[in-house]
Amino acid sequence: MGLAGFADKGRHHGGWFFRTVCLPSLILACLVFSPLSRAADAPLGATSYKMAGDATKMRIVINFDREPDIKWFLLRGPNRLVIDLPATRFALNAKDVKPRGLVRAVRYGELGEGKSRLILTGKGPFAVDNLDVLKNGDGNGYRIAIDMSAASQREFDAALANQALTTGSTVSADKAGRVGTGPVSNPGHRFTVVVDPGHGGIDGGAEGLNGTVEKNVTLAFAMELRDKLAASGKYDVFLTRETDEFLRLDDRVRIARQHEADLLISIHADTISLKGIRGATVYTVSDKASDPEAQALADRENLSDQFAGMEIKDDSKEVTDILIDLIRRETHNFSMSFAHTLVGQLSTSVGLINNPQRSAGFKVLKAPDVPSVLVELGYLSNAKDEAQLLSADWRNKATQSITNAVALFASARSGTGAGG
Ligand SMILES: [Zn+2]
Repeated sequence: MGLAGFADKGRHHGGWFFRTVCLPSLILACLVFSPLSRAADAPLGATSYKMAGDATKMRIVINFDREPDIKWFLLRGPNRLVIDLPATRFALNAKDVKPRGLVRAVRYGELGEGKSRLILTGKGPFAVDNLDVLKNGDGNGYRIAIDMSAASQREFDAALANQALTTGSTVSADKAGRVGTGPVSNPGHRFTVVVDPGHGGIDGGAEGLNGTVEKNVTLAFAMELRDKLAASGKYDVFLTRETDEFLRLDDRVRIARQHEADLLISIHADTISLKGIRGATVYTVSDKASDPEAQALADRENLSDQFAGMEIKDDSKEVTDILIDLIRRETHNFSMSFAHTLVGQLSTSVGLINNPQRSAGFKVLKAPDVPSVLVELGYLSNAKDEAQLLSADWRNKATQSITNAVALFASARSGTGAGG
């Protein structure tokens, strides 16, 4: 992968930031990055690289044979985290640096004049939650530990602007410092809804008695819901996909965070072996499923990532962060509150299953800071439900009910009415 565009993109910044950051970048652009750096006088040894997580959150650990003296900073266009190092010999396993999750590319190499650099390119904007140089417990060198999470471009830009303000002409944060990644106030923010049409591409989802494919029903419904919500003029509304494309579950969550969503509504239409069962269900996330059927459904929906040969692994060795925990609890309360409102609205217009508010461990509902619900519109295994899902009249009623529920939820959140 070439670095030719590296300096060009920096020009979006203008001002001194471009000059100070991008002049070294211009020099860098002339060099060839290679995992094999030439031998120098006792260079620092980067001995291993580990990366865990998904498109919403990653932890990266780079081990060194001695304490690395580092400087790090952000660049945009594309969104990158740059770590400057002294001359370093990178003995990293190609398999370990293979991009995945929130990291789209890992590059490293010599910068010349006794310096080396490592660049992580994000899959979209991100926040650096932590970046520390730590002594390894076994007395075996040092490590750089990085926690990053998906964020909006506005949040990334705010961190970048803050970095420029706080670091003066060095343009780099202190190695122990934290570039401003905390909550950034956003007075222009409108209540934002992300509508997620389930499945897509190679993952068709459930199939109806008469051949209806879930991924098509969910997309058609989601587009109609998007249009109805947008027509109110009160919200910003985004879809996670607008075409028949495959999207990983964590990418759906990442997109919601990227838009700073106040609400994620994931749309599905299930099948069940009992053909008599019909009606809509509203799900929220929980560690313990509300009932065995909800558990089975979550297991089926979570299988989505197996399409396109995605490996399934649970990287839930999460940083136990009290703040994150509190946010998650608050988010959960909002999710429950919206689910309750939604069931109330849907019950006036479309048929619901018994006990229509349920919960299970749906991966797509796991954003710590975005209230999220999953709506199973009905059962494609039931002939009447399948026919309804294809009926414009029914869709109109259902999308109207969801829009009403969003309005109630949004005005409760803002205290003064939606959109404030
Ligand atoms: Zn589904």
